[in-house]
Amino acid sequence: MSNAIQSVSALEILDSRGQPTIQAWCLLNDGTMATASVPSGASTGAAEAMELRDLEDNRYHGKGCRRAVENVNTLINDYLSDKEFLSQQDLDQALMELDGTTNKSKLGANAILGVSLAYCRAQARTKKLPLYQHLSAIAEIEPKLPRPMINLFSGGKHGGQQTSIQDVQLVMLKAGTIGETMEMMHTVYYTAVQRMASHYQMRLLTADEGGLAPSFSSSEEMIQEAVNCIRQAGFTPGKDIALTLDVAASHFYQDGLYLMDGTYLSSEQLVELLVDWSQQFPIISIEDGLAENDWQGWTQFMNKVPEGTLVLGDDLLCTNPVRIEKAISEKAANSLLLKVNQIGTLTEALQAYSLARDAGWKIVVSARSGETEDHWLSDLATGWAGDFIKVGSITQSERLAKYNRLLAIESDNLGSTNIKLTSGEHF
Ligand code: PEP
Ligand code: MG
Repeated sequence: MSNAIQSVSALEILDSRGQPTIQAWCLLNDGTMATASVPSGASTGAAEAMELRDLEDNRYHGKGCRRAVENVNTLINDYLSDKEFLSQQDLDQALMELDGTTNKSKLGANAILGVSLAYCRAQARTKKLPLYQHLSAIAEIEPKLPRPMINLFSGGKHGGQQTSIQDVQLVMLKAGTIGETMEMMHTVYYTAVQRMASHYQMRLLTADEGGLAPSFSSSEEMIQEAVNCIRQAGFTPGKDIALTLDVAASHFYQDGLYLMDGTYLSSEQLVELLVDWSQQFPIISIEDGLAENDWQGWTQFMNKVPEGTLVLGDDLLCTNPVRIEKAISEKAANSLLLKVNQIGTLTEALQAYSLARDAGWKIVVSARSGETEDHWLSDLATGWAGDFIKVGSITQSERLAKYNRLLAIESDNLGSTNIKLTSGEHF
């Protein structure tokens, strides 16, 4: 019974937006203790598992997490303490049974995920394995370092709505290591800082994920400026560095139309615009190009998008196996944005991952816009060999915690087990 659970507990902490979230602890009978913190989104999908919030108007605008903390400290702790689980799957199954709802609304997905992750880290620790190796063993996947998609510019819900689309990100195709990736990104980012100061009279103001958010007059200008910054920094757009977009279209979809930068577009018109951008700019991935329930639009987009482009589902899929199966059968996407807190346990996230992989999809492991200084995500993306990791920009410590962890994993392993960065060649 040495790795049986002695107790679990939780604490209300604050995320990178200063909003409450949860940190959970897991203590094993052998004395091993581990902790994990849970992130939270702002541009959320309707089908996400439910974060339990206190809804008390006079405290944190209703966003307090005391009820979720209480659920960990009482209901979940009473149910788990002195129990030994044979696997992560058994632990997660027990949590799902105790909750008993389809969207984790009884205990809260925040409470459940905190415990799922803290337990996972405790098991890694008791086995004296780095977390990514333990996660790799659970999933029976050969570890590989994911290629970062790094935020340069933000609009939409993360950047004050000055543009309709939410993120323009860079992929350093030519980088051979995470270290080289960060160096290249640093060069472009600080070129952009100077360029934005002179073109948009902008002080160094950043959005939720640390990206720059000047007052671009349109989404297209934001994309064009990213290309200009890459070039001005001395790189070749499309060869050295490619672009990826998070359109986050659910958030400007109203009554069957898309309000794109002040103009209403039909689904067909938005598809045409996105295809046009994919031809005009070096874009290798478009996330949430259509709204989460515009299934027909997604299928049309898949038919028209240039071959090899990632058609990446975030709000569309919500890391939910049922929605992923539907997307596979309707040929509505070809890549999964994996956000563990959208579904609420590691085991269900792995199911989502496996479904997508079996369909030949690419996987982008993603942080949330509300993050903590925890870096389990980097271990997960490496242990499960995500093709990409999306963490935000290269400012703000909650983002850097993840990049710095990737650097540490890389340096740990270059000399020994030699974990390589996923290839950027095929784009
Ligand atoms: C996203 O939309 O991909 C994202 C990371 O934002 P959020 O966490 O706000 O959903
Ligand atoms: Mg998104």
